[in-house]
Amino acid sequence: MIMILLFLIAFVGGTLEYYNTEKQRAQNQSNEQKLEELKVIQLKIKAEEARIKAQIASKKAKETKKSHKKKVAFPSFTTQNNNETNSVISLKGVSKWYEDFQALKDITLEIKLKEKIVICGPSGSGKSTLIRCINRLEAHQEGTIHVSGIELHERMKDIDVVRQDIGMVFQSFNLFPHLTVLENCMAGPNWVRGVDKTKAKERATAMLEQVKIPEQANKYPDQLSGGQQQRVAIARSLCMQPKVMLFDEPTSALDPERVSEVLDTMIDLANSGMTMICVTHEMGFARQVADRIVFMADGEIVEQNSPEEFFNNPQHERTKVFLDQILE
Ligand code: ADP
Repeated sequence: MIMILLFLIAFVGGTLEYYNTEKQRAQNQSNEQKLEELKVIQLKIKAEEARIKAQIASKKAKETKKSHKKKVAFPSFTTQNNNETNSVISLKGVSKWYEDFQALKDITLEIKLKEKIVICGPSGSGKSTLIRCINRLEAHQEGTIHVSGIELHERMKDIDVVRQDIGMVFQSFNLFPHLTVLENCMAGPNWVRGVDKTKAKERATAMLEQVKIPEQANKYPDQLSGGQQQRVAIARSLCMQPKVMLFDEPTSALDPERVSEVLDTMIDLANSGMTMICVTHEMGFARQVADRIVFMADGEIVEQNSPEEFFNNPQHERTKVFLDQILE
């Protein structure tokens, strides 16, 4: 009897233990399953969070890009409602060194919409460096340069956006020798701005007409005179529809008889309302076109004035010496 009782107790105990263990195992399994499910949910939440964050970042990036484009777009020189007092280019306390040599010293200069500025001065005075800093072909180390409200500095990623609105014509023409005149003019809009070929060709043809050499469209640069090549270089810059044109001694590499055709093109451009900064020794051009003449020496702006005052009433001894030399 006792044996039976003991057996029954042991059996019930074992069954209960088995039941409890099984229950515990089932519970654990269910907990583990729940944990797994929770992990999956957590992963899904994280993925969704990342997706939303990416969406917000992309939206922000687009907005920044848009507002940047807005800022960069200078008031066009062809529109009617321009605020003519706006500074398109502003330099404040700009200094630049080439290693130990200081090429620009504390330059402050404001250029307004549609203004034509002629920069002159002896060789080595920093004229070229100054305009190269304006489209950041050279970096300045002190002071600030703003182009249409955007500061140029070493950390900026979008200098190309600013450069698209600044045309630059150099002493050497820098045309692509393996492309025709027309192709040279189409290249920028087509390659850089993605303008389709038909439109790029239309624009190139119009600009070649503007610089008065449409008949040269299918020639290669080495089939043209220096003056003609420089006019192509101007047309090519204009094809990018810049808001400001910088000229760095555009006639100094030309034969004397070719100078006037390039100056005439620049005069036409000035009359069309383009904002222009020209480094040149062509004082006749300066007299005729400039709103202001800036005279530089030893990396500094010595004097700036209207052409009339500049030529008839120079204030500084250095300006007088320069004018005596250049006008004799
Ligand atoms: P400008 O256009 O008035 O003739 P630049 O701006 O070309 O004068 O040059 C100003 C000074 O800076 C000159 O003394 C010139 O030798 C010097 N300079 C210009 N470019 C460099 C350079 N890349 N490295 C060192 N010195 C330079």
